[in-house]
Amino acid sequence: MPYSVVDLYQKILPKTNCGDCGYPTCLAFASMVVSEKVPLETCPHIDKTLQARVQQELDRQHAAGKWTKRDLAADALVWARQRAASMKIEDLAARLGGEVVPGDHGPVLRLPYFTGHIRIHDGQIQPEEDFTLNRWEQVFIFNHMAQGGSASPSGTWRALEQIPNTISKITSMQRHVEQPLVERFNGRAEALRKAAVALGAQDLTDADGSADAVLRFQPMPKIPVLLKFWNAEPDEGFAAGAKLLFDETICEHLDIESIMFLCERIRELLCETDAAQENTPT
Ligand code: SF4
Repeated sequence: MPYSVVDLYQKILPKTNCGDCGYPTCLAFASMVVSEKVPLETCPHIDKTLQARVQQELDRQHAAGKWTKRDLAADALVWARQRAASMKIEDLAARLGGEVVPGDHGPVLRLPYFTGHIRIHDGQIQPEEDFTLNRWEQVFIFNHMAQGGSASPSGTWRALEQIPNTISKITSMQRHVEQPLVERFNGRAEALRKAAVALGAQDLTDADGSADAVLRFQPMPKIPVLLKFWNAEPDEGFAAGAKLLFDETICEHLDIESIMFLCERIRELLCETDAAQENTPT
């Protein structure tokens, strides 16, 4: 039986997201194994006998050309859509925020998403404004629909290491989110603030005063994310730093994979927006 990304993730990998394979999550590693033929043994935490057996099947499916990159996102999307399929649109607004509005074929959930809105109905997610959602973003949103609890943000911020069962992700967060932000924005906290505001973030730098940039993102109504950023101060012996903080209710709304995806998406959007702003004449 060929292994899809989800098969590999659910049935074979440890799901600890420790990052020892060089990828931020087990799901990301699974997608590389299935599409790019990264050997399964790159994960050192799989029983050797199991690993050899599964690798044989992977070799067969690679030879047969199964599971192209295009298939991966589609596969994950089918999985996430199935997770969310039993949710009634009418019940979702109370859990996730947003509002239920009438549509041509029944109720539609209208949700704020960064600076725009998305409309969810009949297993479809459509942007209301002129932007596109890639399939991994749709996976993230469906997972939020399936998991989202009713708790509203409490205003108490937690670092990733203060959230239960996330120890294994700390290295991934540093390597794939915080360090790339430091590399792009060190000495350019003003540029970071400008890019964040363009993405709808609230600039709390002056009011908070604890960092060179303090930015509160609101990707979705129940999911605020705070980014603190410090420029390097070589004369005072301080290295540059970036830290993402989450409301203490985050685990009611997102699984760990989705938290990682969201943070990587924020990093990606900040870098893209900054590049666009740099190329825009003032
Ligand atoms: S090394 Fe860690 S993150 Fe990578 S697949 Fe194995 S358990 Fe998952």
